[in-house]
Amino acid sequence: MTPAMIIDGRGVAGDITFDVVNPASGAVFAQAPECSDAQLDESVAAAARAFPAWSAKVDDRRAALAAAADRLETRSEEIVTLLTAEQGKPLAMARMELAGSVGALRALAGAELPREVIQDDAEARVEVVGRPLGVVAAITPWNFPVVIAINKLAPALLTGNTVVLKPSPLTPLATLAMAEVIHEAFPAGVVNVISGGDGLGARLSGHEGVRKITFTGSIPTGKAIAAAAAGDLKRITLELGGNDAAILLDDVDLAAMTEPLFWSSFLNTGQVCAAVKRVYAPAGRYDEVVQALAARAAATTIGPGDESGVELGPLQNRRQLDRVAELVDDAIRSGARCVTGGTRIDRDGFFYEPTVLAGAADGMRLVDEEQFGPALPVIAYDRLEDAVAAANGTRFGLGGSVWSGDEERAAAAGARLTCGTTWINTHALPLPFAPFGGRDWSGIGVEGGRWGIEGFVDWHTVYTARSRGANAEAGFAETVA
Ligand code: NAD
Repeated sequence: MTPAMIIDGRGVAGDITFDVVNPASGAVFAQAPECSDAQLDESVAAAARAFPAWSAKVDDRRAALAAAADRLETRSEEIVTLLTAEQGKPLAMARMELAGSVGALRALAGAELPREVIQDDAEARVEVVGRPLGVVAAITPWNFPVVIAINKLAPALLTGNTVVLKPSPLTPLATLAMAEVIHEAFPAGVVNVISGGDGLGARLSGHEGVRKITFTGSIPTGKAIAAAAAGDLKRITLELGGNDAAILLDDVDLAAMTEPLFWSSFLNTGQVCAAVKRVYAPAGRYDEVVQALAARAAATTIGPGDESGVELGPLQNRRQLDRVAELVDDAIRSGARCVTGGTRIDRDGFFYEPTVLAGAADGMRLVDEEQFGPALPVIAYDRLEDAVAAANGTRFGLGGSVWSGDEERAAAAGARLTCGTTWINTHALPLPFAPFGGRDWSGIGVEGGRWGIEGFVDWHTVYTARSRGANAEAGFAETVA
């Protein structure tokens, strides 16, 4: 059965549908509704109609978010199944994604609103209040469709905005199922979820009824969205691609660190924005690092996500598989060597062997670009400052990490990384209460913690004069004096 979109509190079918492919088989296994222009207009209009009442009552918003968390928890397992079928990840990973989504809804139900009294004395009371923006467009990618959607919905809704959410056309099903499960916790029009292709994303981001776009996806799309937002000065939060470096120091404990380093790179088959995408190893320990990572990669159990014991599923789509294969082939032509992996797996679906490449160097496309897949280049360095410079030498700036037995040395090197998050002795660990975002081309704005919540408001300063001396003329004279 084709799932429905949720528009103005109702399940709505599309006039036409599009194919959804199971990446473990490469075959079409479901259909999703394609949202028409009229349905897009209706979803934005419904969100605008719902906004005044929704933004007025914070207690109702908290209760609705908590109720949505309960609903999602109760019906997680049916969404887990769909998520694995359309995205490819192992069931255990899909369960973690749903658990993280439930946790985020609960945490946001109880989170503080952006509001602060910054002066309260005989002269004046000054309060700074975060006001909701109106209709928020949320546009999501295909690697973690459910939790990325919830991480946008929950803070947007808590702060009093209403939402129109559009998932990736490659993974619409789990998001539509999630919407079907949670939408009844909210008044009609507060949460609208529509599905369709990239063109729908473009029309949604250019829609005159939208005041903010929160987007996670690729850098080129992020730039297109920034351009679409500019004419109307819509607010934007862009969580974009990364090319995170892990720098290993000469005292790294490989016996303890190989496992976390491997998962930091290969989790979700490498399709993680802040995965380790290149490793810089000291020349004196280079062979050891390469061998340890290659041995771990070679021992991985790969298969369809719904088979038990599977650690890594397929790439999510054929284009991504072709891209990873092309980047590995290019690296080999440029002088790198596959220590393990380097080929597609000969079976249906979009499977690629976990791959570790030695002899990789800056300037190779696999090192300079974001591969977003299970192929990890290891680059030798002589001087730490060269590794730091190489890590910083791209337009990306999402995450980075330093691995060492000496926490202080690692932190000193980590502080020099130009990125949104530096991890020490781990990488890509989600930190829901910290700001997460990218510098330079990896994004604008952040998600997470109070910083993420503040991305869904405009600031409103309310000044109450108490002293007769605090008149505008006197204040102005003081400021300019
Ligand atoms: P994508 O940019 O191709 O698509 C993402 C979403 O944008 C989809 O819903 C798509 O339909 C929509 N879209 C496409 N063109 C659009 C346009 N012109 N206007 C508006 N919307 C449009 O990205 P993807 O391939 O789905 O995701 C992979 C990328 O996402 C990788 O680069 C990855 O690093 C990045 N990513 C970043 C983060 C982060 O938090 N920084 C998290 C996950 C993924």
